[in-house]
Amino acid sequence: MVMGSLRLEADLVVIGGGPGGYVAALRAADLGRDVTLIDERDQLGGVCLLEGCIPSKTLINAVELATAAKDAKRLGVTFDSLKIDPVKLRGHTDKTVKILSRGVSQLVKARGIDVIRARARFTGPRSITLEGGEVSGIDFRDCIIATGSRPRTLPWSDGSGVWTSREALVLPDTAPATLVVVGGGYIGLELGLVYAGLGSQVTVVEFDQRLLGGADPDLVEIMVKRVRKQLHAIQTDSKVVGVERSGDGFVLSIERGGELETLETERVLVSVGRVPNTDALGLDSAGIETDAMGCIPVDAQCRSEVRNIFAIGDVTAGPMLAHKASREGKVAAEAAAGHASAFDNRAIPAVVFTDPEIAWVGITEQEALAQGRAVKVGKFPLRALGRARTLGRTEGLVKVLADAETELVLGVGMVGPWVSEMIAEGSLALEMGATLEDLLVTIHPHPTISEAIMEAAEMAAGAGVHLPR
Ligand code: FAD
Repeated sequence: MVMGSLRLEADLVVIGGGPGGYVAALRAADLGRDVTLIDERDQLGGVCLLEGCIPSKTLINAVELATAAKDAKRLGVTFDSLKIDPVKLRGHTDKTVKILSRGVSQLVKARGIDVIRARARFTGPRSITLEGGEVSGIDFRDCIIATGSRPRTLPWSDGSGVWTSREALVLPDTAPATLVVVGGGYIGLELGLVYAGLGSQVTVVEFDQRLLGGADPDLVEIMVKRVRKQLHAIQTDSKVVGVERSGDGFVLSIERGGELETLETERVLVSVGRVPNTDALGLDSAGIETDAMGCIPVDAQCRSEVRNIFAIGDVTAGPMLAHKASREGKVAAEAAAGHASAFDNRAIPAVVFTDPEIAWVGITEQEALAQGRAVKVGKFPLRALGRARTLGRTEGLVKVLADAETELVLGVGMVGPWVSEMIAEGSLALEMGATLEDLLVTIHPHPTISEAIMEAAEMAAGAGVHLPR
């Protein structure tokens, strides 16, 4: 690594240019702070923009378009010689990423934020060294750590040539004939479905008894019923314990029901979670201790135990999601500027971009049950909804959970087409302290899938009209 000789002084340093870091930098600059943004990559945008949310959703969109076109036969619409060209799709994905990253750079530049391309490491609570650029170090007043996360690897997967999501997102010219996805979380499922759409025979191997453990089983079941048709196999209760190269492919050893099985495949994608990038940051020099998961403990203002150092996004506890990182970025920037901001959000929505999509916010039904919480639950199946019928997409369900006594909305869950676009209504309901009545008297446009939220609220309140009593 190159090390420069220039030493700088800075007012506010943000380490990491992802959706946490760059948003914090923009907000802090708008609030009058003199900001220096550091990222080791050539482009700004972090994992989300460069190798996460944006490229994955670009690929998913193309595959879903092709699936919808094939399915349209049922509606009397046929397409001849439908195919996906991976090279063109890769080009479109790269272009999308470049345009968005350039947009971030322009926003940053327009605010006079200094950007330094280098790898940062703490040498004290007010100083960092930098590797890879002209600047050797910075003495700062305040710092926001937003260094994100990286894919978790398994003891057998390190150096074995298996893919993580990073490699899987760079489409090869020809999709592998067979792909085993190790890990049935949202990233594994989303990418598995991309490759299935490109023609690979995809097997998902999951350690747990079911996929997407955090989501309610009734929502997951509806999704699984449909994606089973696209995937070659879903193997739950199975633990991959080893891998060996075999010719151009791999042989996986899998423990299942006390037996050891082998599975041959051309490619393997390991997606078993992510680890926060805190281990190589020299945090001990700054006086910061991480928790057992490697996360930086913070208060409601995203402040660490060292008061002039904040931490946001994937390096802090909670779901590793871009929208959580961005919200925390704004809170930290405002707190660093002396505002009384706090991350006091009631809920963080989660979305799985499978087809159908799954989304939820607030308490899930399984959590309510585990907590022994008295709730009213209203469910509305999409098969009873006009818009779902017009689309020919009737597999789906929306549910609303409310406190049994006050009818305060506690959670909203959904599975179906476009639910990623609908879950924000649930988030707003929770943030505003809405009741079932607020949801059910709100006029929802007809015919839309969003009517299902109103219908589910009616069901929870015992006032539904579109299902038999
Ligand atoms: P990051 O985006 O990880 O950015 C951190 C930046 O810091 C990186 O650019 C890194 O290079 C830089 N950095 C790290 N260490 C240093 C250092 N020492 N010095 C200088 N720079 C450093 N989230 C969603 O909300 N929705 C989705 O649909 C979604 N899809 C995803 C799909 C995939 C395949 C993946 C992998 C992730 C997805 N995520 C999604 C998660 C999302 O990408 C992360 O939660 C988000 O990027 C976290 O933002 P962040 O700002 O904390 O960090």
